[in-house]
Amino acid sequence: MEKRAEKRRIVLVPVAAQGHVTPMMQLGKALQLQGFSITVAQRQLTQISSSSQHFLGFDYVTIPESLPQSESKKLGPAEYLMKLNKTSEEGFKDCISQLLMQQGNDIACIIYDKLMYFCEAAAKEFKLPSVIFSTSSATIQVCYCVLSKLNAEKFLIDMKDPEMQDKVMEGLHPLRYKDLPTSGFGPLEPLLEMCREVVNKRTASAIIFNTASCLESLSLSWLQQELGIPVYALGPLHITASSPGPSLLQEGRSCVEWLNKQKPRSVIYICLGSKAHMETMEMLEMAWGLCNSNQPFLWVFRPGSVAGSEWIESLPEEISKMVKDRGYIVKWAPQIEVLGHPAVGGFWSHCGWNSTLESIVEGVPMICRPFQGEQKLNAMYIESVWRIGILLQGEVERGGVERAVKRLIMDEEGAGMRERAVDLKDKLKASVRSGGSSYNALDELIKFLNTE
Ligand code: UDP
Repeated sequence: MEKRAEKRRIVLVPVAAQGHVTPMMQLGKALQLQGFSITVAQRQLTQISSSSQHFLGFDYVTIPESLPQSESKKLGPAEYLMKLNKTSEEGFKDCISQLLMQQGNDIACIIYDKLMYFCEAAAKEFKLPSVIFSTSSATIQVCYCVLSKLNAEKFLIDMKDPEMQDKVMEGLHPLRYKDLPTSGFGPLEPLLEMCREVVNKRTASAIIFNTASCLESLSLSWLQQELGIPVYALGPLHITASSPGPSLLQEGRSCVEWLNKQKPRSVIYICLGSKAHMETMEMLEMAWGLCNSNQPFLWVFRPGSVAGSEWIESLPEEISKMVKDRGYIVKWAPQIEVLGHPAVGGFWSHCGWNSTLESIVEGVPMICRPFQGEQKLNAMYIESVWRIGILLQGEVERGGVERAVKRLIMDEEGAGMRERAVDLKDKLKASVRSGGSSYNALDELIKFLNTE
């Protein structure tokens, strides 16, 4: 009992990006609610605001910068990540050493984003338990495991065969070879090497996912067997933590007042997350299609998200006027609140994992426009496994946009998707209530942290 009282500090190590910081901070909140103290170790690049009222009482320390962000452009994402991990080990060891000196030997565990695997060296050196946190779906982790075992040359030859592309992977239904997330991380060989590093659990004692068994039970059981360490599915963490997470950009709240004036389930909400970029032509076709659909829309137009434009100045006068008549544009929205608003009838999304969970939790069906590998896999689940959305493939053109919006908001087909989304929402909410799968998993994790 005494040991439990001493070791109540958890060190969290997030990746400096909105989609990673958000669930990590929510996890911290969920653990704080269970009586743990939270220290967030962030690289200088992360700008988590400690002033956010949801995260009062968290401590923050800085991991010295070991590799400038500008290197990522020269190296490519996978190689940058691997080099960052190599160069960050010593700085993080110093960080932990100082924490241990300041606070006595009271660190219960280091929980690190799966991409920040340099943390394992410090955990090993100071004999501290460590747990991996995956901010993406469990199915993506399954794919990383599969990719880590592939031979790049043979895979590239195999994938030229359309039959092979459509083949379902043994024991991994419904995953097909073409669903493996191989785009968005640069050339294949460094990606496979990165997967080998990321799935190498080293000395970690467990792995946490922001998912729930009602969404991905097969992938979770597969991982449990494959990894041989406890797998905790605690999601959706924004419900468990009762917190939307920190916002790295300023939210535009005026859109909620605009939503208040719209009819129930009439609005299509468009948001492509914190990183995706579009070409001007795609944005213009989207704008035309949205206006032609005659449905009201709320569009998050992130500054710099359209190639060659600061913000919406590249919208021609004619469309700009129509957009203003039928829609509302913000730079960044309070997304969870927007998705929960009764006026919202559909979500046009890039299918980041957080956005996907947030949409399902509100029972909102989706139009999927994924940009890179992980998002494409999430989109495949949304359209074909959970059947709560429409996938837009190929070039975006105004007619296709108009049809997709109408199918989702007005047609019976869309009503069926909404029904299934609401059904999943109920299941997800049940999973975080007393006795539910995520609730029980959190309970087990707490016991585990107290006994490690
Ligand atoms: N988000 C938000 N307001 C916006 C756009 C995004 O609050 O206007 C939040 C969204 O709720 C989600 C996160 O940013 O929690 C984006 O994460 P996701 O995994 O969906 O995509 P990423 O940004 O990592 O591509």
